[in-house]
Amino acid sequence: MERPGYDPFPQRDLGWSSYAVSRPTIERAVRRRVESRANTTLRQRCRVHEVLATPNGEAVTGVRYEKSNGASETITADLVVDASGRGAVTLALLQSIGQPLPEETTIGIDLGYAACIFDIPDDAATDWNGVMTLGQAPQNGRGGLMLPLEGNRWMATIGGRHGDVRPGDAEGFLTYARALRTPTIYNAIGHAKRLDGVARYGFPESVRRHFERLDVFPRGLLPIGDAICRFNPVYGQGMSVAALEACLLQRLLGRLGEDSDPIAALAPAFFAEVQTLIETPWSVAILDFAFPDTRGQRPADFETTLKFGIALTRLAAEDPAVHKLTAEVQNLLRPRSAYLEPALVQRVLAKMAEV
Ligand SMILES: Cc1cc2nc3c(=O)[nH]c(=O)nc-3n(C[C@H](O)[C@H](O)[C@H](O)COP(=O)(O)OP(=O)(O)OC[C@H]3O[C@@H](n4cnc5c(N)ncnc54)[C@H](O)[C@@H]3O)c2cc1C
Repeated sequence: MERPGYDPFPQRDLGWSSYAVSRPTIERAVRRRVESRANTTLRQRCRVHEVLATPNGEAVTGVRYEKSNGASETITADLVVDASGRGAVTLALLQSIGQPLPEETTIGIDLGYAACIFDIPDDAATDWNGVMTLGQAPQNGRGGLMLPLEGNRWMATIGGRHGDVRPGDAEGFLTYARALRTPTIYNAIGHAKRLDGVARYGFPESVRRHFERLDVFPRGLLPIGDAICRFNPVYGQGMSVAALEACLLQRLLGRLGEDSDPIAALAPAFFAEVQTLIETPWSVAILDFAFPDTRGQRPADFETTLKFGIALTRLAAEDPAVHKLTAEVQNLLRPRSAYLEPALVQRVLAKMAEV
């Protein structure tokens, strides 16, 4: 971890393993698990065009979708879970039945990044498996991340905020990597064999939709994952949050089974309980306000939050137990409220006073 002021941050065994694999491999594994469930049927290559509701809009009755041959079909449902990422069909339904759309909190960062896959050379450095190089905020929003993938490959990702032009070709990729704050990534990939073209991606803003503030919501509809909250992908949290939300959904379906109308009770309970779950990753997304060009409502206590975070990081560099705790919070193994433990707060405040 190459943070400004610590190059590198102390490397320690934190007592748990983290896995680095390609997105297709994760998705294939998840899909196989789903396919193995006897009560699940996958309808492939279908696109939902519309969530269907009763004439008064109070309850959802199913979806209308288009098959790959262009034929349109409908399917009835007691519960429709909108895991479509953008949640467009949920918003379209609310509009069509005249209900207000959820308020949104946004953090505008105009992130642009590029990724490329390399063969890991035989003479690759052996003192690290993955590297994250951060720029010096607020002047330098550029960074790089390189992690191993299955098949003896590295995926290198580089990019910056607020319209920074990310490279679209191999030469530009290397030039950009060379300009990062440290040479680690460039030195690693400079002579490595490139296995793929350069993929580019733009991400305008983190968005949190406040479904919990709506007075009414159609019975039998539940947006989940990115459809509720989309995070700056640099922090690598969205899939974990979506998985945690799926676990919450499972718990609620079990718990509400005794309710007289579990389907009606589901969305309000989910929207209320998902807030605690979103709070930790959203508090990380908020760090983008460290860059002055970031758009959106900067939290009133942001300067204090930032100073607390800087002092906590200094403490983590010195103390392996604090390092473990911060890594666990960043990886969503523990909630951010773990930072409020009084003895830890005292130590962080003492560090803040040193500056
Ligand atoms: C470039 C990038 C890198 C990222 N890196 C990480 C990372 O390292 N770690 C991490 O945890 N998160 C990462 N994220 C975030 C993560 O991808 C998302 O948060 C997560 O995938 C959200 O899951 P989801 O199921 O809500 O939506 P998605 O994964 O977006 O899935 C939505 C699915 O619904 C389908 N769909 C959409 N509309 C319809 C429709 N009308 N009918 C039928 N199907 C439809 C889409 O085709 C898609 O397959 C990254 C995101 C991006 C963009």
